Amino acid sequence: VKNMGKTKKPPRLGIALIVSGPSGAGKSTVCSELRRIKKDLHFSVSCTTREPRPGEKHGYDYYYITHSEFREKIRKRKFLEYANVHGEFYGTLRSEVFDYVMDGADVLLDIDVQGAMKIRKKAETNKILSVVTEFVFIGPPSFNELERRLRSRNTESETAIQRRLNNAKKELDAWDKYDYLLINKELGKTVDDLYHLLDILHKSTKRLKDSGFYIQI
Ligand code: ADP
Ligand code: 5GP
Repeated sequence: VKNMGKTKKPPRLGIALIVSGPSGAGKSTVCSELRRIKKDLHFSVSCTTREPRPGEKHGYDYYYITHSEFREKIRKRKFLEYANVHGEFYGTLRSEVFDYVMDGADVLLDIDVQGAMKIRKKAETNKILSVVTEFVFIGPPSFNELERRLRSRNTESETAIQRRLNNAKKELDAWDKYDYLLINKELGKTVDDLYHLLDILHKSTKRLKDSGFYIQI
């Protein structure tokens, strides 16, 4: 028999790694770092109606669109999920996820708890979503530290900070609905943990495309 005893890399679906947690926990910082060191990872760029922060880029951090463009995308069923978060609209484009995972590429999503739970619900009746999605909660070391980080970012008004802190109380309660919990204390360690988590998730058999002989005996 040819190739006896050899293994070959099997065709598989990609992973949709969904990262969420309260505002200020460090999700976007962690995701940017991971994107920087793992170039084969596709970041799902969401649409939002909020204004860009200094340094943010259209098409890299978000697609910044108007309310009417956002409504049009809802009507055309372009979103896998969307939500009103802290008073603005945010939505995940189906194309940012499915076009990649179907091709075997991994996708990283930074979305809020409501959005993650909507995808989790959909996965109950969607076979592809059920095998590709993995849910990671990123929490702060303490509530005080969350507040300190939100303020240190210096990007929101006092009203917006208060709104985000209020939402955080509810969002923190959702950690047990996730598959993995990472407390973002030391940035490098959190990024390292996510990197290794992806490696381990690659060993899962659930995303293999068929059950042919991968190990020939
Ligand atoms: P999120 O995307 O969850 O709202 P950000 O990534 O914007 O949060 O982080 C909020 C603030 O906390 C930023 O100023 C960021 O630099 C800082 N930060 C992120 N991770 C850490 C960490 N592990 N230790 C200290 N500060 C952090
Ligand atoms: P920010 O305005 O700080 O960038 O993001 C605010 C919140 O919106 C964060 O919790 C972020 O994870 C979330 N978010 C970003 N994109 C999406 C999305 O496409 N869908 C949902 N539901 N939330 C999102």
